[in-house]
Amino acid sequence: MINKNKLIDKFISYVKIDTQSDPESSSTPSTEKQWDLANKLVEELKEMGMQDVTIDEHAYVMASLPANVAHKVPVIGFVSHFDTTPDFSGTNVNPQIIDKYDGKDIILNKKKNIVLSPDYFEDLEQYKGQTIITTDGTTLLGADDKAGITEIMTAMQYLIDNPQIEHGEIRICFTPDEEIGRGAHKFDVKKFGAEWAYTMDGSQVGELEYENFNAAGAVVKIFGKSVHPGYAKDKMINSQYIAQDFISSLPRLETPEHTEGRQGFFHLSKMQGDVEETTLHYIIRDHDKEHFEARKKMMLDLGREICEQYERECVQIEIKDQYFNMKEKVEPVKHIVDLAEKAMKAVHVKPIIKPIRGGTDGAQLSYMGLPCPNIFAGGHHFHGKYEYVPVESMIKATEVIVKIAELTSEKYKKENL
Ligand SMILES: [Zn+2]
Repeated sequence: MINKNKLIDKFISYVKIDTQSDPESSSTPSTEKQWDLANKLVEELKEMGMQDVTIDEHAYVMASLPANVAHKVPVIGFVSHFDTTPDFSGTNVNPQIIDKYDGKDIILNKKKNIVLSPDYFEDLEQYKGQTIITTDGTTLLGADDKAGITEIMTAMQYLIDNPQIEHGEIRICFTPDEEIGRGAHKFDVKKFGAEWAYTMDGSQVGELEYENFNAAGAVVKIFGKSVHPGYAKDKMINSQYIAQDFISSLPRLETPEHTEGRQGFFHLSKMQGDVEETTLHYIIRDHDKEHFEARKKMMLDLGREICEQYERECVQIEIKDQYFNMKEKVEPVKHIVDLAEKAMKAVHVKPIIKPIRGGTDGAQLSYMGLPCPNIFAGGHHFHGKYEYVPVESMIKATEVIVKIAELTSEKYKKENL
């Protein structure tokens, strides 16, 4: 049995440490304060008796749990991140523990009238009777992804305390700066040395993800010609009208607010302009690689058409790929997803397998040679004051980690026979 109180204490000790990352900074970690938790984790790992505990100059923490079986088992890994989003304050996190949740409104902050209500957040209903950890309404919680760290730490402790559970070598890594898209950037995949891994960074209990968007960012610059409005006839070219043409020539219903599931989109995230020059910022997303390429081409073609129409180079487009769908890297080793699914079922968690409408560090790691599906960490409504996590979900995630370790060993024992 996993000790519930110890798990809660561990989680709270982590969320109380402010580890907000900063996209404006170019160093790794992006903020000095991330070292506080990274160093604490190193100490705890050593105390637990984990092997090869290291922290590098970029604050990536790695450690090993050696195999306790004689037969050959592939080295597997578990990964989570210790930074929290720059979008919301992570200073002085003051978690509230609601025991035996009654299914009603949770008052997060009486003074400011901030309420976590199942009328608005229906997901709460499924946790009736469970222990829920919330914020006090003034900060985020940091379950993203300190729940993941708690689960990995607790699972390793559990395996150490229960040597009768057979497993191969397990590698773990805690990274900085995931929330600013750089969690995988300085990840030393070779040093990690695992054949595959799982990020413990999903949301609700049961989530298992191995598909994400292909992603690109586009900057569209449109050039006009500014002339005194009183003398502008046949001379002025207003870049804002050209921008309007550009925007309305892209499919209006292929936008985030009109799409779901595996449907891709163009998202105009920002525009700024005047007569002389207008800049449009787009993100392009699609799970399907061919559709993704077609979207980029559609945009470039449109730019060319407009230039021809105006008989001048008035549209300049720069498109940069951001990340790719990990499915391409995971599908050839689909057994690693099947293993996670089997582990969930073994601990009575119903797997929810769906494509992520976003990206994960696991996607980048998959392209760096470490196939890395994503497993639930249990929290809900990340990146804001309504973030919460049911303790029972964290316990389930911990059990899933233990089970994956056990099943991997079992699978290769059979294969070796
Ligand atoms: Zn996360």
